Amino acid sequence: MAALPTEDDIASMDAADPLLPLREQFLRAEGEVYLDGNSLGMASGAALDALRLAAREEWTRGLIRSWNTAGWFDLPVELGDRIGRLIGAASGQVVVADTTSINIYKALHAAIGLRPGRNVIVAEAGSFPTDLYIAEGVISTLPGVTMRLEGRDADRIEDLLDQDVAAVLVNHVNYKTGALRDMAALTRAIHDAGAVAIWDLCHSAGALPVALDAAGADFAVGCTYKYLNGGPGSPAFIYVAARHLAEARQPLSGWWGHARPFAFETGFDGDPGIRRFQCGTQPILSLRALQGALEIWDEVDMHRLREKSVALTELFIRLVEGLCAGHGLVLESPRDPALRGSQVAFAHDHAYEIMQALIERGVIGDFRAPSTLRFGFTPLYLSHADVAHAARVLADVLESGLWREPRFAVRGAVT
Ligand SMILES: *Cc1c(COP(=O)(O)O)cnc(C)c1O
Repeated sequence: MAALPTEDDIASMDAADPLLPLREQFLRAEGEVYLDGNSLGMASGAALDALRLAAREEWTRGLIRSWNTAGWFDLPVELGDRIGRLIGAASGQVVVADTTSINIYKALHAAIGLRPGRNVIVAEAGSFPTDLYIAEGVISTLPGVTMRLEGRDADRIEDLLDQDVAAVLVNHVNYKTGALRDMAALTRAIHDAGAVAIWDLCHSAGALPVALDAAGADFAVGCTYKYLNGGPGSPAFIYVAARHLAEARQPLSGWWGHARPFAFETGFDGDPGIRRFQCGTQPILSLRALQGALEIWDEVDMHRLREKSVALTELFIRLVEGLCAGHGLVLESPRDPALRGSQVAFAHDHAYEIMQALIERGVIGDFRAPSTLRFGFTPLYLSHADVAHAARVLADVLESGLWREPRFAVRGAVT
């Protein structure tokens, strides 16, 4: 096996990294390596400044006037367009609103409505569970609609497609393994079967280049508190391809989706554009924090970001496999970086305890039941030295048996 990279090698990787200076814009804790940006991104100075301004000035002083004077009402579509630039969507097709779960509900209903006479939803058994739970909820409102799952009813989504399929709900990057799908190819297969493609971008928006328009995607959803660093519970986004905007209907027809919300009319008349995919009043303080968080992306080339992401995950896998050999870690992520998002998963029988010990040692990743150690790599604020440090601490936790101490087996409500 080739020798592992030395300290000097890692220092040269950092010296050659054009994105490295961006980390200074985040409020990092000294001595910690944060590998959980795929669950909750870090706070940036710009996000906190925007939040403070919105609270102190717009809310405290402006009060109700701020809906107009501070442009609150248009924030969801403005930020939608900004996120659109990161996910390959031309303007007018993305709105920031509600949660990913709620947006999946809207997208599934709209997709099924576009395919009358078809009554099957295809999804993945290994999906992030909320996607499946929401699909169950949609099915409970539409008699006759059923679900087929990749990983249960067939090995591949392609083998589940036929003339009964209305919509396919699929994750671009798997939340646990980091497996990355070929969006253009799968969308083509879905369209060839006459169905509608809904992409969940929770683990790809802000993590790698996404090209929704170019791939011909019909709908997409994603969250903003992971790689986009919008803050805990910041609202999600939904993309509806322009060609569907006139026809697609979502069932949560609240007043923010009305063509004239302040006319207070008795009946619902939906906005002709993407605004129709909002429901009610949106969380303005969170939107402001998100707006601050999005500023950094003006300086980022997504292809550079992807190069760095691949370099970080490759380095981590190489070091962990080199330094932790014999300790029972099994790589769960695709080994080919072209098939992997910006995260790395290892399986271990004692994944939970090992992760708790790692966190105590300042390396923050997370555990996903039943046996996954999951590490997210955010190229905006991680250095190669951080990654090397994390691998060394993991080796030390395993080598020393630190994780066997009983306190690491105690489980919190959120893992
Ligand atoms: C994080 C995540 C969600 C989160 O949904 P919320 O409604 O924001 O809680 C949904 N889907 C996937 C694939 C995720 O990774």
